[in-house]
Amino acid sequence: MVTLAPASTDTLPIVRSVEDLRAQVAAWRGQGGTVALVPTMGALHDGHLALIRRARELADHVVASVFVNPTQFAPHEDFDRYPRDEAGDAAKLASAGCELLYAPTVRGMYPEGFATSISVGGPAEGLCGAFRPQMFGGVALVVTKLFLQALPDVALFGEKDYQQLMVIRRFARDLDIPVRVEGLPTVREADGLAMSSRNAYLTADERARAPELNRALVEAAEALSAGVESGAVLDAVRARLQAAGFGNIDYVELRDAGTLEPVRGVDRPARLLAAAWLGKARLIDNVPVLPR
Ligand code: AMP
Repeated sequence: MVTLAPASTDTLPIVRSVEDLRAQVAAWRGQGGTVALVPTMGALHDGHLALIRRARELADHVVASVFVNPTQFAPHEDFDRYPRDEAGDAAKLASAGCELLYAPTVRGMYPEGFATSISVGGPAEGLCGAFRPQMFGGVALVVTKLFLQALPDVALFGEKDYQQLMVIRRFARDLDIPVRVEGLPTVREADGLAMSSRNAYLTADERARAPELNRALVEAAEALSAGVESGAVLDAVRARLQAAGFGNIDYVELRDAGTLEPVRGVDRPARLLAAAWLGKARLIDNVPVLPR
């Protein structure tokens, strides 16, 4: 049995090296246990904790990672000011049933001389891939590393980042990574706003306007299911966001729910996805659109 590094809280063991992570996972496996991994960037909220609780149902042991991954941020983006609260995260993880926090350092993940990249096409094209060209290569790299470091039976991700979930499913399949990828529905505030660590960037006034994004998408999804022409519906969503005080609208698009290819109608399951700026926060959300 591995001796874990002293926890920085009394509640949850924290490991920072691949060796210590693997030693704990090996100890669990030696006892016949299965393992779930929940990758996060920290500043945890109930959306993250829903993944942990579901992970507990799917495996005997749950490890969460907290790593603000520099390779998925462009230089002008919010890597430096992304919220960080390791002690708070550790306490929340423990309360949700997580048994181990893996919190590697940037140097540990990307040592001097690191020279490998992963490029994903297909579902990574367009949407956030168009506005944040750095992102999915960085996500693919860090998630592949986390999968190979922990070698879990199952890894859980939120539909809040729907395109990311589809990208992860695709490269895990393409690269024959033997990890089951599970997606979970978006956890929302009472007024419909998707929970996000970046909601902390919203002022009180912006926070009051923010739920309009989800309201507009839910109503648009109804109209699309009822057969209203998609161009008009997407235009109406954009107009509504502008009226609510949103700034740049990066995209509002209807895509195939599985491949994320652009679609015009809903003869099969589709997904309506949007990204728009409200002050300093870039909000993303998506909803299912089902054929009637
Ligand atoms: P992040 O820390 O934002 O990188 O997110 C870590 C994981 O939690 C990703 O799989 C996200 O999709 C998921 N997640 C974030 N917010 C939510 C939410 N509101 N509901 C469900 N899952 C979420």
